[in-house]
Amino acid sequence: MMIKVTLPDGTVKEFSKGTSSYQVALSISEGLARNVLAAEVNGEVWDASRPLNTDVSLKLLTWNDDKGKSTFWHSSAHLMAEALEALYPGTKFGIGPSIETGFYYDVDFGDRHFSSDDFKKIEDKILELAKTKSEYIRKEVSKADAIQYFKDKGDEYKLDLIDGLNDGEITFYTQGNFTDLCRGPHIPNTGFIKAVKLMSVAGAYWRGDEKNKQLTRLYAVTYPKQSELTDYLHLLEEAKKRDHRKLGKELELFAFSEKVGMGLPLWLPKGAALRERLVQFLQKAQVKAGYEPVITPHIGHKQLYITSGHYEKYGADAFQPIKTPQEGEEFFLKPMNCPHHCEIYKTKPRSYKDLPVRFAEFGTVYRYEQSGELHGLTRVRGFTQDDAHLFCRPDQVKEEFMKVIDLVLYVFGALGFEDYTAQISLRDPENRTKYIGSDENWALAEQSIIDAAAEKGLKTVVEYGEAAFYGPKLDFMVKDALGRKWQLGTIQVDYNLPERFELEYTGSDNQKHRPVMIHRAPFGSLERFVAVLIEHCAGNFPLWLSPDQYIILPISEKYADYAKSISDSLNNYDIRGLIDNRDEKIGKKIRDAEVKKIPFMLIVGEKEQEDGKVSVRKHGEGDLGSLSLEEFVELMKKETKV
Ligand SMILES: [Zn+2]
Ligand SMILES: [Zn+2]
Repeated sequence: MMIKVTLPDGTVKEFSKGTSSYQVALSISEGLARNVLAAEVNGEVWDASRPLNTDVSLKLLTWNDDKGKSTFWHSSAHLMAEALEALYPGTKFGIGPSIETGFYYDVDFGDRHFSSDDFKKIEDKILELAKTKSEYIRKEVSKADAIQYFKDKGDEYKLDLIDGLNDGEITFYTQGNFTDLCRGPHIPNTGFIKAVKLMSVAGAYWRGDEKNKQLTRLYAVTYPKQSELTDYLHLLEEAKKRDHRKLGKELELFAFSEKVGMGLPLWLPKGAALRERLVQFLQKAQVKAGYEPVITPHIGHKQLYITSGHYEKYGADAFQPIKTPQEGEEFFLKPMNCPHHCEIYKTKPRSYKDLPVRFAEFGTVYRYEQSGELHGLTRVRGFTQDDAHLFCRPDQVKEEFMKVIDLVLYVFGALGFEDYTAQISLRDPENRTKYIGSDENWALAEQSIIDAAAEKGLKTVVEYGEAAFYGPKLDFMVKDALGRKWQLGTIQVDYNLPERFELEYTGSDNQKHRPVMIHRAPFGSLERFVAVLIEHCAGNFPLWLSPDQYIILPISEKYADYAKSISDSLNNYDIRGLIDNRDEKIGKKIRDAEVKKIPFMLIVGEKEQEDGKVSVRKHGEGDLGSLSLEEFVELMKKETKV
């Protein structure tokens, strides 16, 4: 009896029934088979050793697939549990899932005191067990047998988990001397695990309920190569150094004050200068692209949000309304700018010839976030969106998308983000009823987005079922210098608000039609974007954006006047900077300027003053020799070209 196996590239191969994914891999190449961790069988991840008994579509998963990685890490959790049981007999186990990077296991050590001092011992044990190359063996068990097993073992957590499972769907996995309740899948054997690091230890209530016992959550990460673990740990170190909260303080960009309120950033002069430059940069590009700046207030009448639907959806979880003292009218801090912009659209009749209209606003909005969720500039309660709303005809969606993509790519280019993919979120094809707007318009908009992205040559991933109920969208996922992914730049189609606000235009047929609304924000918010930018460039901003582009370092106070004359001249060229007139040794002044990451240091002493020159040092690069003022201005012009 033969089965058909369809591979991701469309190739169909025949195998005898009962062939495993591993054997399929082996038929392709031995190298591939050696690297197969698991397999996606008809969309479900299976053990590579599990027999295939029907026609299937098959994707072999390796370390390079996210699902391969998560299988690897989850399997590592079993191995860590085995090590813990060997070292600390009587340990009980909760759950051990993979997470974004690595895995954890919740364990009950009983009365045993446990701390990070024990990490090394556990890591060694894990590697020792890994070397035995024990297979992860799957076994179906009856509920009664499963209960008996963990009763004998005395593990009430596993018994609690079994309680919620149906007889006939329970599986055990055994590797080496350890058996766990698990539905799988797992990697073929423990030999794949070559490097391990226990990361941290925390408390976690069983099932997340504080009425239950607090277990010890052990976080760890494993890799198939020691070098990959070393790279990862290096990356973490680097990320720590680049943490925008740390650099924001050191570079005096922003601060928080408990008196002002949590999650409400204060932009310090240097941060404000940087932010202002970002705003001007985008404003200029937007005016060129046909956007019209608008300005709207920070609050809006409750009625506005009833119309928009936000009140019903988010009202209870938002900052509570402000009441007028006399009439008792209720106003909300605005959580988004869209409703205000809809009202701007309605200020006059629009014809098909007027469209598209594009309203842009750096609109500050306020959203209530739980205090535990707040994080530097990336999760705040008040932030400014580089927002715009485009109102267009359905047939203009594609062109508008292409124009927004151009703008986003222009922004990324100017700021040094080179690695990005576009994620296109479409309807769930299985369930089309939950979406608002006509089928015809959705189909047109979805195709428009796909075509626009293709014509712009974007690397894309299509996600079905990820669209909002009110329209499909395109998000830019950007990889920063450390390879971390950030979501920046969203372009979102909206059929909902035009409906709710009864927006109209007169068509060429003289009939009333609904415009399509597109929300877009290349930065997302200035706060979040600046945070990402700081971490991406480690505080070494592109020269055009640097709050201070140079610092003049006079060797002694005798050259203060000369320093001042240089700075006055540079001012005329719109080149901004500082003078360090402190009574300090030049070596110290240079070191301090390096810490502040100021791009250029201009050292002036007797020789420079006599020759009418400056000695130039570039941050992180060192001496560039002595330049005349004109030469330095030329250099700056060259380097600031966006
Ligand atoms: Zn498992
Ligand atoms: Zn919007």
